[in-house]
Amino acid sequence: MRYFSLNKQSPDVGFKEATLQGQAPDKGLYFPDHIPVIEKEYFDKIEQYSNEDIAFRLLKPYVEGALPDEELARIVGETINFPIPLEKVREDIYSLELFHGPTLAFKDVGARFMSRCLGYFARERSERVVVLVATSGDTGGAVAHGFYDVPGVDVVILYPSGKVSSVQEKQLTTLGKNIHALEVTGSFDDCQQLVKQAFTDAALTSRIFLTSANSINVARWLPQQIYYLLAWKQWKEKEQPPVICVPSGNFGNICAGLLAHRSGLPASHFIAACNANDVVTRYLQGGDYQPQKAVPTLSNAMDVGNPSNFVRILELFNHEFGSLSKVLSSASISDEETKQTIRRVFEQDGYLTDPHGAVGLLALERYLGEHQGQRGFFLETAHPVKFYDVVEPVIGTAIPLPPAVQSIVDLEKQSHVIAPDYEELSAYLRGRYH
Ligand SMILES: *Cc1c(COP(=O)(O)O)cnc(C)c1O
Repeated sequence: MRYFSLNKQSPDVGFKEATLQGQAPDKGLYFPDHIPVIEKEYFDKIEQYSNEDIAFRLLKPYVEGALPDEELARIVGETINFPIPLEKVREDIYSLELFHGPTLAFKDVGARFMSRCLGYFARERSERVVVLVATSGDTGGAVAHGFYDVPGVDVVILYPSGKVSSVQEKQLTTLGKNIHALEVTGSFDDCQQLVKQAFTDAALTSRIFLTSANSINVARWLPQQIYYLLAWKQWKEKEQPPVICVPSGNFGNICAGLLAHRSGLPASHFIAACNANDVVTRYLQGGDYQPQKAVPTLSNAMDVGNPSNFVRILELFNHEFGSLSKVLSSASISDEETKQTIRRVFEQDGYLTDPHGAVGLLALERYLGEHQGQRGFFLETAHPVKFYDVVEPVIGTAIPLPPAVQSIVDLEKQSHVIAPDYEELSAYLRGRYH
């Protein structure tokens, strides 16, 4: 498989180069030069295959030439080593629970796959890879855990001091080994600025093999297709494919679902569920595509005003609005509606959602209300306990801590404090990786 830049000003590359570079030199996103087809018979018989076989079959064409079969098999096995159940909420609505991984959010899947690919490529080059990443909270935890103890790879995470939740901070700062947390006495934007500056510092990048674990990286984007296939494996009524509703922010997750659908995955329709950040909702309802400044909401992992993966969706549909809008629609859900949905579904169905899942559930309910006889599932992208400060007051009870969280809250935080000053970051990196 070759990957081309959507800006069309850089040469095509293989999976390995696309993963190592993250973004093309012309700042475009990488996109596969063809979309593999999975035969209908495979989807008809999917229950016969193990989860690892399904992931392997799906991803093999994408990594052709970069990963030998036995490496890919090992990597997918380590990527999905936790359950991904499709739980019934009520007769016509199911929840695809993507929060059973180490950091209780779906980003674990992409982060685990990418980290192991990078680890393999680093071993091939016999050079240490340093992943430099800025986080506002969630991504950093998934990346840190994903890379934890992967040989040949170090992670340096920058996070804004005092601006991440206590659980998130523990997830970033208590791992140790190859994971190093830099606590920046500034904002998330400062952290991002520092990381950007490091990547353009030629003196530094000539000495240290730096890479980003950015969410646009193909090695994070492509493996997200896996769980759409695992949902289909668990879908009972094969004669009536599901409506799939995805809580969306940067649109990487839903773009992976649409890609799997293009390869043959059965689905009746896709819905992008958004919070008040509704650039795509407006566009799909016939408006102009107008990026905005992000507004803060309760489902803060989706507070994105200019979703970077949307160009991949446009590419997938050849920039034809007609064919895109047949497959994909979108709804925007307010914070008030999010809270009401969490409470109502908890009381009526005995099912607890996090704010992101609640946005997805309500958007799905509305669609099904207008399309009688259909059924579907939404992606529950995070465990409700990650957003206990929103969820607990709404339902009036405490959410028990899952063991993965319980075991880290008592650990000692280990971070290195720096000012939002590039000299301090550069000195730290040089000192550690001279
Ligand atoms: C990142 C994230 C999202 C949004 O996913 P995108 O791929 O950016 O659309 C939704 N929910 C949670 C909990 C997230 O962490």
